[in-house]
Amino acid sequence: MAPIGEEAMTTEATELFDPSSKYAIGIDIGGTKINAGIVTHKGEILLSESLETLAGQENTVRRVQQAIQHVIEEASKTWPDIRYRGIGIGSAGQVDWHEGSIRYASELIPGYSGAQLKSILEKQYGMTVWVDNDVNVIALAEMRLGAGLGKRQFICLALGTGVGGAVVIDGRLLHGAWGGAGELGHMSVDFRGIPCICGARGCLEQYASGTSIARLMRERLAAIGTPNEQVNARDVFALWQEGDPLAASVMDEMIAALGSAITSLIHIFNPELIIIGGGVAESGEQLVDRLRQEVSRHTMPSFAEGVQIETARLGNWSGMIGAALQAWEYE
Ligand SMILES: [Zn+2]
Repeated sequence: MAPIGEEAMTTEATELFDPSSKYAIGIDIGGTKINAGIVTHKGEILLSESLETLAGQENTVRRVQQAIQHVIEEASKTWPDIRYRGIGIGSAGQVDWHEGSIRYASELIPGYSGAQLKSILEKQYGMTVWVDNDVNVIALAEMRLGAGLGKRQFICLALGTGVGGAVVIDGRLLHGAWGGAGELGHMSVDFRGIPCICGARGCLEQYASGTSIARLMRERLAAIGTPNEQVNARDVFALWQEGDPLAASVMDEMIAALGSAITSLIHIFNPELIIIGGGVAESGEQLVDRLRQEVSRHTMPSFAEGVQIETARLGNWSGMIGAALQAWEYE
């Protein structure tokens, strides 16, 4: 086994260990990082580490095997009698939920499309393996431990490099025919709008992702003769908070697009809560406040009434925790 990089981080929580309990291994697979750990049925982290995916340099399945192997070895040093319920995985890309395989992954993770994660890992470790997409497992963590606690009908929007989504109906994640349900970033908010990589036009992702916020700002800066190719979404949020009019016009467009998407989602699913997560949500209360106003203006009052819009509560490890919680969610 190749050594785990120096970026690996391990935290131990000896006081959480109970030899009569079983634990789950949680793996969160992203384009740049794989977060791995051991989680209790309450979602507490017994041990965790992070390693670089090295997408395009190393085989991603092999990298996942290294992560699993490493947490198992680390755990057995401290708790030789530890017992596992199984391995839960949340992954970037389109996941076939029934097969536990990667139906399609973009060039962000070359060679990952078609990876038969569930069958490979079940054979190797002799444990049950659950595989779902990265936003679905975040929604699961938020439902059991975070903003969605006690809620049975809610929508999660993860605004990061792209826009991901998850839909919880009657207390269960909506998976659709093979697991692709909830691809909310590719919901069109303008059928004549900006062409999207998916083939459609005016997808939410073209306005509300961090990448798009930065792109909209660059376009505006270029248009007034002060091009700046380095500007990123964080810069836009900071400028917005300072009252910069250009940043405000970018955020107005972003909020209009996101508000329009949320209004449609409220009319389709009749949720009680919308959770906004991902890096863009870190822009803070100003965004959520404006979204609440925008949504209440365009949603039928009977539908809008009582719908909360909140930011995600759990941080960077929520994908890994949610991935592990599948071991208790699906038995
Ligand atoms: Zn699209």
